[in-house]
Amino acid sequence: MANSGGSIENFHDAESPSVLEKRRTKLEKTEEMAAKRPDWLRVRIKSGENYQSIKHLIHGQSLHTVCEEARCPNIYECWEQRTATFMILGDTCTRACRFCAVTSGRPEGLDWAEPKRVADAVETMGLQHVVVTSVARDDLADGGASVFAATIRAIRERVPDCDVEVLIPDFQGNEAALQVVLDSSPDVLNHNIETVRRLSDSVRSKAKYDRTLELLARSKRLRVDIPTKSSIMVGLGETREELLQTMDDLRSVEVDILTLGQYLQPTERHWLIERFYSPNEFLSLRAEGLQRGFKHVQAGPLVRSSYHAREQVQDARAKAGTAQVVQE
Ligand code: SF4
Repeated sequence: MANSGGSIENFHDAESPSVLEKRRTKLEKTEEMAAKRPDWLRVRIKSGENYQSIKHLIHGQSLHTVCEEARCPNIYECWEQRTATFMILGDTCTRACRFCAVTSGRPEGLDWAEPKRVADAVETMGLQHVVVTSVARDDLADGGASVFAATIRAIRERVPDCDVEVLIPDFQGNEAALQVVLDSSPDVLNHNIETVRRLSDSVRSKAKYDRTLELLARSKRLRVDIPTKSSIMVGLGETREELLQTMDDLRSVEVDILTLGQYLQPTERHWLIERFYSPNEFLSLRAEGLQRGFKHVQAGPLVRSSYHAREQVQDARAKAGTAQVVQE
């Protein structure tokens, strides 16, 4: 969510005049876009009974969700519907993408009890579809793939009917790490491309546009039975042609499910919003995606990778002409 948490007065006295000027300009632009925020992006804060019980459960189990860490605007709706996206491998990311609100720094060691606690929470919440993601852990040899696999297995053992979708980092291109995750047979393999090729290196930290495509292609090569999914944020300065090209690139590696949503600047330190897309523009992008052969396209101002994730997979399965795409 856009959050103008800073002020010019807070800027450090020792900073050079040019740095100070740049920050001042950026803060002004942030505030300008926050003031222009259209009605369709205004979220009603409604913290009901389910929201409170999920919050209690997550915090009580020392778990993390991307819903909170990334300041997702859908948190009140999703938690009220007893849906959440678990973020494993701690709450500190080894990368610092310019769009992301998750804390970056040097993470602590591994918590091997975390998979079991996630499975406990999935059971308590009565989930039928869970999304598991993580911070990037470039400090680990396998990027945390073995913990993803352990989490999938723990959920399967505890709640056999629950679909498990994983939203994985790129593991720095490590194919063996990807294989470890695929061997535990997630129901959906999700890896976000985030933005168009031209902006990728500036917006994402260390991740590479072509490495993302390669990961998605490899996943199909290694396990054709597991649907793949990816997500694009809009409003960072891309053109429509670039967006359509990114869709083509994702289809060239046979991605099944696409989500598109409006980028919202988490704080004044993050990448500026270039513009807001209207609901009609999202409808038009959805149509473009469906024309290109994605089995499901979810597009809308507040759509996030895990928003209505269960419905996305159900629709993709129906379009694939089978009630069970995976686990044949
Ligand atoms: S859209 Fe995803 S990240 Fe956002 S609140 Fe819902 S489940 Fe959490």
